[in-house]
Amino acid sequence: MEETVPEIITDVVSLGVSACIDRCPVRYNGRAFDELKVIGREVADFRLKPVCPECMAGMAVPRIPTRLTGRGEDVLDGTALVKDGHGRDRTAELVVGCEACIGALRRAQVEAVVLKEKSPSCGLFLTPVGTHRDRAATGSGLFGAMVRHEGWFTIPSTALNSPLSWRDWRRRLHAWLWLKRRDLASARDLYDAWHILKLVVQGTQRGEADAIGRSLAALPKRPAAEELAALRVRIAEGLMAPTRPARARNALWKAYAHAVKRGSWPAWTCTTSMSARRPTCAAPRAWRAR
Ligand code: SF4
Repeated sequence: MEETVPEIITDVVSLGVSACIDRCPVRYNGRAFDELKVIGREVADFRLKPVCPECMAGMAVPRIPTRLTGRGEDVLDGTALVKDGHGRDRTAELVVGCEACIGALRRAQVEAVVLKEKSPSCGLFLTPVGTHRDRAATGSGLFGAMVRHEGWFTIPSTALNSPLSWRDWRRRLHAWLWLKRRDLASARDLYDAWHILKLVVQGTQRGEADAIGRSLAALPKRPAAEELAALRVRIAEGLMAPTRPARARNALWKAYAHAVKRGSWPAWTCTTSMSARRPTCAAPRAWRAR
């Protein structure tokens, strides 16, 4: 019988973070959050790289808060602006600050970034955008939009609201890292990877998971490299889609039941060897190299 080699993820992941959620008092009001505390001892599994785009833009602490007249992507397209409370245009400054932070994160070789949700700079999904009358509109902040273009795994700070939520995001981060390190040269490779990951994507985006499955089934025998790459991107994006606590809870129960049924529990668990300060994350049995 062919011997299987355990596929163990041992990398310490380089993780960019909004500085203000890691106790740096750089917010517009001079305050900070300690949102990473929910990670607990798992913090040793990451190399943290804090950045603050507004500080890198040369803005003072404390400062007059800014707002966006459109989504971060619209600012990048030139159809929206960053304005402060006095109505002054701060777009050019903030773009420079965001670019400086992107450069720092590239040099640090980050693979994932945790960003402060609702901020006009760092927000990912819930930043209030538009005029004061249009308060219901939400979208990405400017830095959030730029980080997403980099292709890193993006995590909103709301993932740190509870241990359950963090567990769900961390599980998806590991699935994403596993996919990223995978050589997917053929349709067969992609089918095999999807067979392993679909349960994770189904947990957050059932409709998209079904659509990806249909697209895979419709692939020709010898698909073009571009077709494979496009589907790979869809799977990767499905892994980092925002979710709700109830869905996260259901997804974790489903993963647990699945792992117990296959006899691979506690393989989904990630443990940290504190003496070596190195994480040991055992992949599920199905993830093991053949
Ligand atoms: S720009 Fe980002 S890191 Fe800086 S204070 Fe605002 S949310 Fe925090």
